[in-house]
Amino acid sequence: MRVEEHSSGLLSIRNRILVLSILVAVVPSFSVGVLLHNMLQSTLEEKVEQKFMDSANIIEREISLWLKERVYDLNVFSNSSILAGVVPASQNNDGAAGVTGSVPGGEIETVETYLTTLKNQFDDYLSIFVLSRTGSVIAASQTGDADRSFSFPDDAVVQISDRQWFKGGVLLHSGDAPSLLIGIPLFMDQLYEYESLLAIEVSLAGLKPLLEPERLGAKSGDRLYESLVELEGGRQFLFSNDGADILGGIQLLLGDLNMDEGDRPVLQELSNGQNMRLMGLLVPFQELEWGLLIAEDYEEVFASAIESRNRNIIIVCSLGLVMGLAAYLLTRQIMVPLTALIQGSRKVAGGDLDVQLSVRRNDEIGFATRVFNEMVEKLKESQTALEQLATTDALTGLDNRKQIMQKLQDHFDYYQRYKTGFSVLMLDVDHFKSVNDTCGHQAGDEVLRQIALIFQDNLRNVDAAGRYGGEEFLVILAESAEEESLHAAERIRKAVANHIFCHEDTVIRLHVSIGVSRIMEQDEDENAVVKRSDRALYRAKKGGRNQVVYLVAEEDAPVGRSENVVALQTSVKK
Ligand code: GH3
Ligand code: MG
Ligand code: MG
Repeated sequence: MRVEEHSSGLLSIRNRILVLSILVAVVPSFSVGVLLHNMLQSTLEEKVEQKFMDSANIIEREISLWLKERVYDLNVFSNSSILAGVVPASQNNDGAAGVTGSVPGGEIETVETYLTTLKNQFDDYLSIFVLSRTGSVIAASQTGDADRSFSFPDDAVVQISDRQWFKGGVLLHSGDAPSLLIGIPLFMDQLYEYESLLAIEVSLAGLKPLLEPERLGAKSGDRLYESLVELEGGRQFLFSNDGADILGGIQLLLGDLNMDEGDRPVLQELSNGQNMRLMGLLVPFQELEWGLLIAEDYEEVFASAIESRNRNIIIVCSLGLVMGLAAYLLTRQIMVPLTALIQGSRKVAGGDLDVQLSVRRNDEIGFATRVFNEMVEKLKESQTALEQLATTDALTGLDNRKQIMQKLQDHFDYYQRYKTGFSVLMLDVDHFKSVNDTCGHQAGDEVLRQIALIFQDNLRNVDAAGRYGGEEFLVILAESAEEESLHAAERIRKAVANHIFCHEDTVIRLHVSIGVSRIMEQDEDENAVVKRSDRALYRAKKGGRNQVVYLVAEEDAPVGRSENVVALQTSVKK
């Protein structure tokens, strides 16, 4: 039965050791790598968050200052006596509707000239107005602006009562920088009542340089972008260089503020619709209703984390590779002798005992190989012993009947192929029974043993002798002609007859009868020649024993051939 190979495929020892060692190397280093990467990433996040917050604080401070300067300017402008000509409506009117009527005719031009003069002194002032409470223009620096009307923010009144000035919503202009309406009440009384306001529409272009990252210490080439955001509605209105292209695509929702529990905005990944990965933070200003959206390229923020991650990947891969190689070499050391052992065992299982494995090492595998070799050696010895037992006659040491018949068949097969003839001698000890009877059975055994020795002395190596029955022997004379066979038979006969058999103190003399026959063309199998030799032996017995009879043809052969029977006889010795 063939033993199935179980050690192939994924579950082989080689693969298990390989996988185990790679896992042992890769898993811990990979886990530590991931841990370190996460730690580094959150440290970087915190650092970047703080950097963004600091930038936002600086920018808010500067914007507040900028606004205060504008409010200061407005206050200076409002102190002019020219504006005193604009009579507060409350003093002669019930409502705001008739404010314009409150300006004495002819004086409005003076006010407008004053406003125009002021406006021309400042580049970033787009217009200066005197407005009614409802937002209609009483006087404007430019005549074209006279028909404009402004809607004040909902909280304008609150703003004015809190800080005596208000700031409107940002006005966007295509192509130009956005603008902003800043106003102060004119002639406010003790009850904070006012009927008209002095307002400027100022371009925010002056704030743009504040947003340039270089101002905040960023190196040129850093991919850092900023924009100002109106917190209500999340509208972005002023961008740093490139900021409009990069941040403009980001849809800001109120939730984007993403405050954590400590009311601190949290850094988050932003998507701008251009498949750019950005890490951004929307920092609401503390006093203004604006905020700063500040974002940096993801790879720049995490450059060191990405670098260390890549380094870790290389380390982990190299470790895996080195361990894999080490495991491969180790398993090779195990697998090569193990494979030799498996192949050797297969050969032995298939009946081939000519296996000797070379022992090159002194370790466990070398020991197993030595044991294997010893085992094969022992098996070979017992197989030889068994074969010996199965083919040899225990008493005489000659081939047993089965073996000599097998050899005979081999000779016959060889003869059929190459026509090399052979002869068969059938030999029977004469009156052997009387040896037993007279000298005992053991003496008889000794005689048989000594006859076997006589065969050995009188036969060639190519010949074979076997014990055919009790005291009957069969001898095969290979490649022998008729005459040679007869001489060989006669030699044996004489040797036996002349031999002095001794057993203990007894001396025995005896002789044998031999029937000889040669293989013939018409013989169908090896039994034909045996039968013929047997008949020849019968004839030898019948003819008086102690003689050799050569039978050429079958006994029932045509009468004309009966003279072919040859009998060699010597005197019977007693
Ligand atoms: P012949 O052949 O001349 O006709 O006479 P014989 O006495 O040899 O006749 P037979 O063949 O009848 O006797 C053979 C005897 O050989 C019978 C048997 O007891 C004896 N014999 C057979 N095998 C053995 C053996 O292994 N050992 C001994 N001692 N005797 C054996
Ligand atoms: Mg006999
Ligand atoms: Mg006999």
